[in-house]
Amino acid sequence: MLHRRRQKRIILLGSTGSIGRQTLDIVRAFPQDFRIVALSGHSRPDELARQIEEFEPIAAALTNGTVEPPPGPIVRWYRGGNGAERMIREIGADIVLNGIAGAAGLLPSFAALESGKDLALANKETMVMAGEIALDLARRRRRRILPVDSEHSAVYNLLARFPGEPAEIILTASGGAFRDRPLSDLGRVTVEDALRHPTWSMGKKITVDSATMANKALEVMEACRFFGLPPRRVKVVIHPQSCVHALVRAADGALYAHMSRPDMRLPILAALTAPRVAESDFGRLDLENCRLDFSPVDPARYPLLELGYRAAEEGGALPVVFNAANEIAAAAFIEGEISFLDIERVVDGTMTLGWPNLNRSLDDVIFNDNLARRKARAVMSDIRNAR
Ligand code: NAD
Ligand code: MG
Repeated sequence: MLHRRRQKRIILLGSTGSIGRQTLDIVRAFPQDFRIVALSGHSRPDELARQIEEFEPIAAALTNGTVEPPPGPIVRWYRGGNGAERMIREIGADIVLNGIAGAAGLLPSFAALESGKDLALANKETMVMAGEIALDLARRRRRRILPVDSEHSAVYNLLARFPGEPAEIILTASGGAFRDRPLSDLGRVTVEDALRHPTWSMGKKITVDSATMANKALEVMEACRFFGLPPRRVKVVIHPQSCVHALVRAADGALYAHMSRPDMRLPILAALTAPRVAESDFGRLDLENCRLDFSPVDPARYPLLELGYRAAEEGGALPVVFNAANEIAAAAFIEGEISFLDIERVVDGTMTLGWPNLNRSLDDVIFNDNLARRKARAVMSDIRNAR
């Protein structure tokens, strides 16, 4: 692909997860172009050990302090809660790919930018919680933040070739596991049901978020930050085949679409090579055998999308609160502690408690996140006690 180019040195965060493993697939496919200099995982030392053996990084972080690093290949270990941040600051690299799930990815993103590295961002929570602060830091350090989320990667690539200011952008949503279930069933669906995603294979939390559409709500906020548009100019449409990832509408009303097979390796590769377009077959769509349907989002089925728009419009602490409450509720649903419909109740209940307008510094963000988690747990126990 990129012969005679210097290998790009990558620090890969969340290497044991879905995004992490697909990134390693790319490095495997293009060994002359990319080199993994460091890896991080949270709690699966054996898988991390296998990856270290194969990719021979200089360093590795194991961020769950209670898990022992595996025996075997020798690397510089970084352990404990801030292990990934310390590793990012100390190890030289061209780009950090952040595939950590949830708010735990926030500080590593900042460590990447602060230490002068480009940031390929799958961790949408960074943009939702602190997008403006991160973009401002990237500008000051002359570093790039490249979206890995498929919809945002699609918009980024469309805008790179786009004439003029977009009138609106449209993100597609698969509708998740319960798109075609009768609404009256949603009170008794199980975790296993929610984890059966129709088109994408992803981590557990984001798969549940696809079923509630909390994922799309986070992506609306992510898009507003990335592309500097107000929420009302970021639309969502259901598209069950997940082949069109996003569309941009021009001032004259024409729509420009970005299409590929639903394969996350394509946006990961695009982020790692931007602004160049690499030769690969990952996303090749067979147009003759593909059918495209679009329909509106039913607010009764996906109330979390509306709450996400409210958070995006009101701003201040609310995007952080939405994300924190949803993380608490989705984790509790995955653990079997609350029902599927309780997820929305917890997020709504937490958002309506009244929140400050202040979310200007990273300290504000962390304060709001901690407080929102405490309050979401209280809302959740009220809901459970009321049964
Ligand atoms: P996953 O659950 O499969 O993997 C998460 C990774 O993060 C693992 O390596 C895990 O060890 C690490 N991790 C978990 N908790 C951590 C903590 N407290 N501290 C440090 N590391 C921790 O998740 P995923 O599906 O790969 O998603 C990762 C991120 O990418 C999420 O923000 C998600 O929204 C986003 N994303 C994922 C996909 C996808 O196809 N999977 C698509 C678009 C965006
Ligand atoms: Mg996405």
